[in-house]
Amino acid sequence: MHEYHKAVAWVEEACKQAEEKNAKKVTALNVTFGESSGYSPEVVKNYFDEAAVGTICEGAKFHVTVTRSMLKCPACGEVFEKKLLDYKCPNCGVEGNPTESGNEVTLDGIEVE
Ligand SMILES: [Zn+2]
Repeated sequence: MHEYHKAVAWVEEACKQAEEKNAKKVTALNVTFGESSGYSPEVVKNYFDEAAVGTICEGAKFHVTVTRSMLKCPACGEVFEKKLLDYKCPNCGVEGNPTESGNEVTLDGIEVE
């Protein structure tokens, strides 16, 4: 159900931003989903479409950016992409620590007309 709450929050946020711009309609939302966030962009979009009915966000598209999961090496500081079953630094072979990248679910901006 976390997708539902995110979708409702984005409808409210997009409507608020559109009103501040004196826009008549929200045509698209620019959103970012981390691949490890546990959120499904499709599911959020479905809930968004339902929650947006009757608002100026109705019919808005999602422009989705997906971020990869990145790890940071505690030994040399290298930031590298997490591969399946491979958490080791390409420089020194030390296991990397998780970073914020790959976990974000954010509304970056809206497009209006
Ligand atoms: Zn390293």
